[in-house]
Amino acid sequence: MQSRVEVLGLSPDALTAVCGQWGQKPFRAKQLLRWVHQRGQSDFSQMTDLARDFRELLSERAQVLTPPVLRDHVSADGTRKWLLDVGGGNAIETVFIPETSRGTLCVSTQAGCAVHCRFCSTGHQGFSRNLSSHEIVGQLWLALRALERDGVRGRVPFASDDLDDDDADAVEPRSRLISNVVFMGMGEPLQNYEATLAALRIMLDDHAYGLSRRRVTVSTSGVVPMIDRLRLDCPVALAVSLHAPNDSLRDQLVPINRKYPIDELLDSCLRYLDRAPRDFITFEYVMLDGVNDSDEHAEQLLERVRRVPCKFNLIPFNPFTGSGLRKSPAERVRRFAQRLSDGGRVTTIRRTRGDDIDAACGQLAGEVRDRTGVNERIRRRVIPLTEAQ
Ligand code: SAH
Ligand code: SF4
Repeated sequence: MQSRVEVLGLSPDALTAVCGQWGQKPFRAKQLLRWVHQRGQSDFSQMTDLARDFRELLSERAQVLTPPVLRDHVSADGTRKWLLDVGGGNAIETVFIPETSRGTLCVSTQAGCAVHCRFCSTGHQGFSRNLSSHEIVGQLWLALRALERDGVRGRVPFASDDLDDDDADAVEPRSRLISNVVFMGMGEPLQNYEATLAALRIMLDDHAYGLSRRRVTVSTSGVVPMIDRLRLDCPVALAVSLHAPNDSLRDQLVPINRKYPIDELLDSCLRYLDRAPRDFITFEYVMLDGVNDSDEHAEQLLERVRRVPCKFNLIPFNPFTGSGLRKSPAERVRRFAQRLSDGGRVTTIRRTRGDDIDAACGQLAGEVRDRTGVNERIRRRVIPLTEAQ
Protein backbone atom coordinates (compact mmCIF):
# COMPACT_ATOMS: atom_id res chain seq x y z
CA MET A 1 0.00 0.00 0.00
CA GLN A 2 1.20 3.48 -0.84
CA SER A 3 2.05 5.55 2.25
CA ARG A 4 -0.03 8.63 2.89
CA VAL A 5 1.23 12.12 2.20
CA GLU A 6 2.18 13.90 5.45
CA VAL A 7 0.53 17.26 4.91
CA LEU A 8 2.18 18.86 7.96
CA GLY A 9 5.64 18.50 6.44
CA LEU A 10 5.00 19.78 2.92
CA SER A 11 6.37 23.22 2.11
CA PRO A 12 3.86 25.47 0.31
CA ASP A 13 5.53 24.73 -3.05
CA ALA A 14 5.59 20.99 -2.42
CA LEU A 15 1.94 21.00 -1.38
CA THR A 16 0.97 22.95 -4.50
CA ALA A 17 2.85 20.37 -6.60
CA VAL A 18 1.13 17.42 -4.90
CA CYS A 19 -2.28 19.07 -5.27
CA GLY A 20 -1.42 19.66 -8.94
CA GLN A 21 -0.69 15.94 -9.41
CA TRP A 22 -4.13 15.29 -7.97
CA GLY A 23 -5.67 17.64 -10.53
CA GLN A 24 -6.28 20.48 -8.07
CA LYS A 25 -5.67 24.18 -8.69
CA PRO A 26 -2.97 26.02 -6.67
CA PHE A 27 -5.54 27.90 -4.56
CA ARG A 28 -6.68 24.54 -3.15
CA ALA A 29 -3.21 24.11 -1.64
CA LYS A 30 -3.52 27.52 0.03
CA GLN A 31 -6.91 26.60 1.44
CA LEU A 32 -5.49 23.35 2.77
CA LEU A 33 -2.51 25.15 4.34
CA ARG A 34 -4.85 27.51 6.15
CA TRP A 35 -7.09 24.71 7.43
CA VAL A 36 -4.21 22.64 8.70
CA HIS A 37 -1.78 25.23 10.07
CA GLN A 38 -3.94 28.24 10.90
CA ARG A 39 -7.05 26.48 12.15
CA GLY A 40 -5.31 23.38 13.49
CA GLN A 41 -7.73 21.06 11.69
CA SER A 42 -6.57 17.49 11.12
CA ASP A 43 -9.85 16.00 9.90
CA PHE A 44 -10.26 16.56 6.15
CA SER A 45 -14.00 15.92 6.31
CA GLN A 46 -14.36 19.08 8.42
CA MET A 47 -12.72 21.32 5.83
CA THR A 48 -16.08 22.58 4.68
CA ASP A 49 -15.07 24.92 1.86
CA LEU A 50 -13.11 22.21 0.02
CA ALA A 51 -14.98 20.32 -2.71
CA ARG A 52 -16.35 17.01 -1.45
CA ASP A 53 -14.33 14.91 -3.94
CA PHE A 54 -11.12 16.70 -2.89
CA ARG A 55 -11.91 16.00 0.78
CA GLU A 56 -12.48 12.34 -0.04
CA LEU A 57 -9.26 12.15 -2.00
CA LEU A 58 -7.36 13.71 0.90
CA SER A 59 -8.88 11.23 3.36
CA GLU A 60 -7.60 8.38 1.18
CA ARG A 61 -4.16 9.67 0.32
CA ALA A 62 -3.05 12.14 3.00
CA GLN A 63 -2.89 12.62 6.75
CA VAL A 64 -2.14 15.22 9.39
CA LEU A 65 -0.16 13.30 11.95
CA THR A 66 2.03 14.40 14.86
CA PRO A 67 4.22 12.27 17.12
CA PRO A 68 2.27 10.97 20.17
CA VAL A 69 2.74 12.89 23.44
CA LEU A 70 4.48 10.82 26.12
CA ARG A 71 4.50 13.53 28.77
CA ASP A 72 3.21 17.07 29.09
CA HIS A 73 4.50 19.15 32.00
CA VAL A 74 3.82 22.73 33.00
CA SER A 75 6.37 24.37 35.26
CA ALA A 76 5.56 26.81 38.07
CA ASP A 77 6.90 29.66 35.87
CA GLY A 78 4.59 28.73 32.96
CA THR A 79 7.24 26.93 30.90
CA ARG A 80 5.62 23.90 29.29
CA LYS A 81 7.44 20.89 27.99
CA TRP A 82 6.23 18.05 25.83
CA LEU A 83 8.04 14.77 25.46
CA LEU A 84 7.12 13.19 22.12
CA ASP A 85 7.50 9.61 21.00
CA VAL A 86 9.22 9.34 17.62
CA GLY A 87 9.38 5.55 17.61
CA GLY A 88 12.16 3.03 18.11
CA GLY A 89 12.50 3.96 21.80
CA ASN A 90 13.37 7.55 20.88
CA ALA A 91 11.83 10.61 22.47
CA ILE A 92 12.24 14.27 21.57
CA GLU A 93 11.39 17.45 23.43
CA THR A 94 9.53 20.63 22.65
CA VAL A 95 9.51 23.51 25.13
CA PHE A 96 7.25 26.56 25.28
CA ILE A 97 8.57 29.58 27.14
CA PRO A 98 6.00 32.33 27.84
CA GLU A 99 7.22 35.87 28.41
CA THR A 100 5.31 39.13 28.66
CA SER A 101 6.20 40.31 25.20
CA ARG A 102 6.44 37.01 23.35
CA GLY A 103 5.86 33.28 23.40
CA THR A 104 8.81 31.18 22.28
CA LEU A 105 8.72 27.57 21.15
CA CYS A 106 11.95 25.57 21.19
CA VAL A 107 11.84 22.70 18.68
CA SER A 108 13.97 19.60 18.11
CA THR A 109 15.31 18.52 14.72
CA GLN A 110 16.89 15.13 15.44
CA ALA A 111 16.51 12.24 17.87
CA GLY A 112 19.92 12.50 19.52
CA CYS A 113 22.80 14.31 17.84
CA ALA A 114 26.00 13.29 16.09
CA VAL A 115 28.08 16.33 17.07
CA HIS A 116 28.77 14.99 20.58
CA CYS A 117 29.39 18.26 22.36
CA ARG A 118 31.08 17.61 25.66
CA PHE A 119 28.54 19.54 27.79
CA CYS A 120 25.33 18.44 26.03
CA SER A 121 23.09 15.68 27.26
CA THR A 122 21.65 15.16 23.76
CA GLY A 123 25.19 14.73 22.44
CA HIS A 124 25.85 12.12 25.14
CA GLN A 125 22.85 10.12 23.91
CA GLY A 126 24.40 9.65 20.49
CA PHE A 127 22.58 9.99 17.19
CA SER A 128 19.44 8.01 16.43
CA ARG A 129 17.85 9.62 13.38
CA ASN A 130 16.83 12.80 11.61
CA LEU A 131 13.30 14.03 12.19
CA SER A 132 11.24 14.51 9.06
CA SER A 133 9.75 17.92 8.29
CA HIS A 134 6.30 16.89 9.51
CA GLU A 135 7.78 15.84 12.84
CA ILE A 136 9.43 19.26 13.18
CA VAL A 137 6.37 21.28 12.13
CA GLY A 138 4.20 18.86 14.13
CA GLN A 139 5.82 20.23 17.30
CA LEU A 140 4.52 23.72 16.51
CA TRP A 141 1.13 22.40 15.44
CA LEU A 142 0.75 20.38 18.66
CA ALA A 143 1.96 23.17 20.92
CA LEU A 144 -0.42 25.71 19.39
CA ARG A 145 -3.38 23.36 19.75
CA ALA A 146 -2.50 22.62 23.38
CA LEU A 147 -1.93 26.28 24.27
CA GLU A 148 -5.18 27.32 22.61
CA ARG A 149 -7.00 24.62 24.50
CA ASP A 150 -5.42 25.22 27.91
CA GLY A 151 -4.34 28.87 27.74
CA VAL A 152 -1.02 30.29 28.80
CA ARG A 153 -1.24 30.93 32.50
CA GLY A 154 -4.86 31.86 31.87
CA ARG A 155 -4.18 34.39 29.09
CA VAL A 156 -5.13 33.58 25.54
CA PRO A 157 -3.80 35.11 23.39
CA PHE A 158 -1.27 37.85 24.22
CA ALA A 159 -3.01 41.21 24.37
CA SER A 160 -1.75 43.51 21.64
CA ASP A 161 -0.28 45.96 24.17
CA ASP A 162 1.98 43.17 25.41
CA LEU A 163 3.72 42.95 22.07
CA ASP A 164 7.03 44.72 21.65
CA ASP A 165 8.16 46.96 18.81
CA ASP A 166 9.15 44.05 16.62
CA ASP A 167 5.50 43.17 16.34
CA ALA A 168 4.74 46.04 14.02
CA ASP A 169 4.31 43.28 11.42
CA ALA A 170 0.95 42.42 12.93
CA VAL A 171 0.20 38.74 13.37
CA GLU A 172 -3.07 36.90 13.66
CA PRO A 173 -4.20 36.18 17.22
CA ARG A 174 -3.52 32.46 16.89
CA SER A 175 0.13 32.87 15.99
CA ARG A 176 0.59 35.43 18.74
CA LEU A 177 0.48 32.59 21.22
CA ILE A 178 3.76 31.51 19.70
CA SER A 179 5.50 34.55 18.25
CA ASN A 180 9.02 33.08 18.11
CA VAL A 181 10.48 29.70 17.21
CA VAL A 182 14.02 28.70 18.12
CA PHE A 183 15.69 25.59 16.70
CA MET A 184 17.47 24.95 19.99
CA GLY A 185 15.96 21.66 21.11
CA MET A 186 17.57 18.30 20.49
CA GLY A 187 19.77 17.86 17.45
CA GLU A 188 21.83 19.88 14.99
CA PRO A 189 19.39 21.50 12.52
CA LEU A 190 22.05 22.01 9.85
CA GLN A 191 22.86 18.30 9.85
CA ASN A 192 19.22 17.69 8.95
CA TYR A 193 19.12 20.40 6.34
CA GLU A 194 16.30 19.48 3.95
CA ALA A 195 13.75 18.82 6.70
CA THR A 196 14.80 21.97 8.57
CA LEU A 197 14.46 24.04 5.38
CA ALA A 198 10.97 22.70 4.61
CA ALA A 199 9.92 23.36 8.22
CA LEU A 200 11.26 26.93 8.03
CA ARG A 201 9.35 27.60 4.82
CA ILE A 202 6.12 26.39 6.40
CA MET A 203 6.68 28.43 9.55
CA LEU A 204 7.28 31.62 7.54
CA ASP A 205 4.49 31.20 4.98
CA ASP A 206 1.58 33.62 5.36
CA HIS A 207 -0.96 30.89 4.62
CA ALA A 208 0.55 28.73 7.38
CA TYR A 209 2.10 30.28 10.52
CA GLY A 210 3.25 33.61 9.08
CA LEU A 211 6.15 33.99 11.50
CA SER A 212 8.62 36.80 10.93
CA ARG A 213 12.11 35.80 9.74
CA ARG A 214 13.51 37.86 12.57
CA ARG A 215 11.59 35.76 15.05
CA VAL A 216 12.69 32.34 13.83
CA THR A 217 16.20 31.43 14.96
CA VAL A 218 18.32 28.51 13.79
CA SER A 219 21.01 27.59 16.29
CA THR A 220 24.04 25.70 15.02
CA SER A 221 27.25 24.25 16.35
CA GLY A 222 28.88 25.58 13.17
CA VAL A 223 28.27 23.46 10.05
CA VAL A 224 29.93 26.01 7.77
CA PRO A 225 28.77 24.81 4.29
CA MET A 226 25.19 24.61 5.52
CA ILE A 227 25.30 28.11 7.01
CA ASP A 228 26.17 29.22 3.47
CA ARG A 229 23.25 27.28 2.03
CA LEU A 230 20.79 28.62 4.58
CA ARG A 231 21.99 32.12 3.70
CA LEU A 232 20.85 31.52 0.12
CA ASP A 233 17.79 29.33 0.70
CA CYS A 234 16.04 30.88 3.66
CA PRO A 235 17.94 33.39 5.79
CA VAL A 236 16.43 33.59 9.28
CA ALA A 237 18.01 34.79 12.53
CA LEU A 238 21.18 32.84 13.28
CA ALA A 239 22.64 31.75 16.62
CA VAL A 240 26.04 30.07 16.69
CA SER A 241 27.15 27.91 19.60
CA LEU A 242 30.67 29.22 20.10
CA HIS A 243 31.45 28.21 23.70
CA ALA A 244 35.22 28.79 23.43
CA PRO A 245 37.52 31.61 22.30
CA ASN A 246 40.26 29.42 20.80
CA ASP A 247 40.44 26.32 18.62
CA SER A 248 42.20 24.02 21.08
CA LEU A 249 39.44 24.46 23.67
CA ARG A 250 36.62 24.48 21.10
CA ASP A 251 37.99 21.27 19.54
CA GLN A 252 37.34 19.62 22.90
CA LEU A 253 33.95 21.14 23.68
CA VAL A 254 32.38 21.19 20.19
CA PRO A 255 34.15 18.44 18.18
CA ILE A 256 32.86 19.73 14.81
CA ASN A 257 35.38 22.54 15.32
CA ARG A 258 38.10 20.12 14.14
CA LYS A 259 36.43 20.21 10.73
CA TYR A 260 35.31 23.84 10.67
CA PRO A 261 37.61 25.87 12.95
CA ILE A 262 36.66 29.22 14.48
CA ASP A 263 37.99 31.54 11.77
CA GLU A 264 36.19 29.63 9.00
CA LEU A 265 33.04 29.75 11.10
CA LEU A 266 33.38 33.50 11.64
CA ASP A 267 33.92 34.00 7.88
CA SER A 268 30.64 32.19 7.20
CA CYS A 269 28.90 34.35 9.84
CA LEU A 270 30.08 37.47 8.02
CA ARG A 271 28.80 36.13 4.70
CA TYR A 272 25.49 35.24 6.32
CA LEU A 273 25.01 38.74 7.64
CA ASP A 274 24.70 40.28 4.21
CA ARG A 275 21.38 38.46 3.76
CA ALA A 276 20.26 37.95 7.36
CA PRO A 277 17.08 39.54 8.69
CA ARG A 278 18.99 40.85 11.71
CA ASP A 279 22.25 42.77 11.57
CA PHE A 280 24.06 40.63 14.14
CA ILE A 281 24.84 37.01 14.91
CA THR A 282 24.05 35.70 18.39
CA PHE A 283 26.95 33.78 19.90
CA GLU A 284 25.88 31.30 22.53
CA TYR A 285 28.40 30.53 25.23
CA VAL A 286 27.74 27.90 27.89
CA MET A 287 29.49 28.82 31.14
CA LEU A 288 31.55 25.91 32.47
CA ASP A 289 33.32 26.25 35.79
CA GLY A 290 37.09 26.42 35.37
CA VAL A 291 36.89 25.45 31.68
CA ASN A 292 35.95 28.52 29.59
CA ASP A 293 34.90 31.17 32.13
CA SER A 294 38.05 33.10 33.13
CA ASP A 295 38.79 36.81 32.56
CA GLU A 296 41.39 35.76 30.00
CA HIS A 297 38.78 33.75 28.10
CA ALA A 298 36.53 36.83 27.98
CA GLU A 299 39.36 39.00 26.63
CA GLN A 300 40.34 36.38 24.04
CA LEU A 301 36.72 36.06 22.98
CA LEU A 302 36.33 39.80 22.42
CA GLU A 303 39.51 39.85 20.36
CA ARG A 304 38.54 36.76 18.35
CA VAL A 305 35.12 37.99 17.22
CA ARG A 306 36.17 41.61 16.73
CA ARG A 307 35.32 41.57 13.02
CA VAL A 308 31.80 40.14 13.44
CA PRO A 309 28.75 42.23 14.43
CA CYS A 310 27.38 40.09 17.25
CA LYS A 311 25.68 39.75 20.59
CA PHE A 312 26.52 37.24 23.30
CA ASN A 313 24.10 35.01 25.11
CA LEU A 314 25.72 33.37 28.12
CA ILE A 315 24.02 30.11 29.08
CA PRO A 316 24.29 28.75 32.61
CA PHE A 317 25.34 25.11 32.21
CA ASN A 318 22.59 22.59 32.97
CA PRO A 319 24.44 19.79 34.71
CA PHE A 320 23.44 16.19 34.02
CA THR A 321 24.58 12.88 35.42
CA GLY A 322 27.86 11.74 34.00
CA SER A 323 28.86 15.05 32.38
CA GLY A 324 31.82 15.54 34.72
CA LEU A 325 31.36 19.31 34.38
CA ARG A 326 30.14 22.01 36.77
CA LYS A 327 28.27 25.22 36.16
CA SER A 328 30.13 28.46 36.69
CA PRO A 329 29.12 30.27 39.89
CA ALA A 330 26.61 33.08 39.27
CA GLU A 331 29.15 35.72 40.29
CA ARG A 332 31.61 34.47 37.63
CA VAL A 333 28.92 34.52 34.95
CA ARG A 334 28.06 38.12 35.88
CA ARG A 335 31.73 39.10 35.79
CA PHE A 336 32.25 37.45 32.40
CA ALA A 337 29.15 39.23 31.05
CA GLN A 338 30.41 42.55 32.41
CA ARG A 339 33.76 42.16 30.66
CA LEU A 340 32.06 41.43 27.34
CA SER A 341 29.76 44.43 27.81
CA ASP A 342 32.72 46.62 28.74
CA GLY A 343 34.30 45.42 25.51
CA GLY A 344 31.34 46.88 23.62
CA ARG A 345 29.24 43.77 23.03
CA VAL A 346 25.60 43.47 24.03
CA THR A 347 25.56 40.49 26.39
CA THR A 348 22.65 38.71 28.00
CA ILE A 349 22.59 35.89 30.51
CA ARG A 350 19.96 33.29 29.71
CA ARG A 351 17.43 32.95 32.49
CA THR A 352 16.95 29.37 33.57
CA ARG A 353 13.32 28.45 33.07
CA GLY A 354 11.27 25.43 33.97
CA ASP A 355 13.91 24.02 36.34
CA ASP A 356 11.26 22.06 38.20
CA ILE A 357 10.29 20.14 35.05
CA ASP A 358 13.80 19.49 33.73
CA ALA A 359 13.37 21.88 30.79
CA ALA A 360 17.11 21.80 30.27
CA CYS A 361 18.24 20.46 26.90
CA GLY A 362 17.78 16.77 26.41
CA GLN A 363 17.30 15.93 30.05
CA LEU A 364 13.85 14.40 30.05
CA ALA A 365 14.37 12.50 26.82
CA GLY A 366 17.69 11.28 28.20
CA GLU A 367 15.90 9.87 31.17
CA VAL A 368 13.49 7.96 28.92
CA ARG A 369 16.28 6.50 26.82
CA ASP A 370 18.24 5.63 29.95
CA ARG A 371 15.75 2.88 30.62
CA THR A 372 17.17 1.08 27.63
CA GLY A 373 20.70 1.58 28.93
CA VAL A 374 21.70 3.63 25.89
CA ASN A 375 22.93 6.56 27.97
CA GLU A 376 25.20 4.38 30.04
CA ARG A 377 26.75 2.81 26.93
CA ILE A 378 27.38 6.22 25.41
CA ARG A 379 28.67 7.67 28.65
CA ARG A 380 31.38 5.03 28.68
CA ARG A 381 32.52 6.25 25.27
CA VAL A 382 32.82 9.87 26.40
CA ILE A 383 36.38 11.06 26.75
CA PRO A 384 37.31 13.12 29.83
CA LEU A 385 37.91 16.76 28.89
CA THR A 386 41.57 16.83 29.88
CA GLU A 387 42.41 13.85 27.66
CA ALA A 388 40.25 14.84 24.73
CA GLN A 389 42.88 16.40 22.46
N1 SAH B 1 22.62 21.79 17.90
C1 SAH B 1 22.37 23.17 17.95
C2 SAH B 1 21.03 23.53 18.58
C3 SAH B 1 20.58 22.75 19.76
S1 SAH B 1 21.45 23.01 21.25
C4 SAH B 1 23.48 23.90 18.65
O1 SAH B 1 24.33 23.26 19.24
O2 SAH B 1 23.51 25.13 18.56
C5 SAH B 1 20.90 24.62 21.77
C6 SAH B 1 21.86 25.33 22.73
O3 SAH B 1 21.91 24.69 24.02
C7 SAH B 1 23.28 25.35 22.20
O4 SAH B 1 23.88 26.60 22.34
C8 SAH B 1 23.93 24.34 23.08
O5 SAH B 1 25.29 24.52 23.12
C9 SAH B 1 23.25 24.56 24.42
N2 SAH B 1 23.41 23.47 25.39
C10 SAH B 1 23.52 22.16 25.11
N3 SAH B 1 23.66 21.46 26.27
C11 SAH B 1 23.62 22.35 27.27
C12 SAH B 1 23.70 22.23 28.69
N4 SAH B 1 23.84 21.06 29.29
N5 SAH B 1 23.63 23.37 29.41
C13 SAH B 1 23.46 24.57 28.81
N6 SAH B 1 23.38 24.73 27.47
C14 SAH B 1 23.46 23.63 26.70
FE1 SF4 C 1 24.26 18.49 19.14
FE2 SF4 C 1 23.84 21.07 19.75
FE3 SF4 C 1 24.03 19.20 21.67
FE4 SF4 C 1 26.19 19.90 20.30
S1 SF4 C 1 25.00 21.23 21.67
S2 SF4 C 1 25.59 17.79 20.79
S3 SF4 C 1 25.34 20.25 18.28
S4 SF4 C 1 22.46 19.34 20.15
